[in-house]
Amino acid sequence: MIQGKAEMLENGKGFIHSAYDTFPIPSVIKLDFFVKRTRRAEQKLTRFGVFHRDNYTCQYCGKAEKQLTIDHIIPRSRGGEHTWENTTTACIPCNLHKAGRTPEQAHMTLLSKPKIPQNNLPFYLPHRYVNHIKEWNKYLEPYDVR
Ligand SMILES: [Zn+2]
Repeated sequence: MIQGKAEMLENGKGFIHSAYDTFPIPSVIKLDFFVKRTRRAEQKLTRFGVFHRDNYTCQYCGKAEKQLTIDHIIPRSRGGEHTWENTTTACIPCNLHKAGRTPEQAHMTLLSKPKIPQNNLPFYLPHRYVNHIKEWNKYLEPYDVR
């Protein structure tokens, strides 16, 4: 901001004072030039993230149940990994039915092929602060990031 490369959109935390100057402490800035990220940051695998990706719907029977579980498609006992591509959302009955089997062995079909969610946000977002900084709300609303 001091070099004129970024513009403050929100001042979140007031000002800091040096001996001669006062500087705002921004919580949202806009860069004059978009900084192209060479590699998209992969989202950390969480239960919530898998449910969110799968639209809170069991990927075996298609029901949007309140109680959902994470199913390892290739069971961990058979060497399946804990990755985005090997996890899916399952309701409790489907998960119990599938048990320690692969979908093929259990004669179950997945409604969607699990993928790594892509972070297509046009901004850098430190996710751990999302619910704590109120002035971000109007910028985040269109992107469904919670
Ligand atoms: Zn189900």
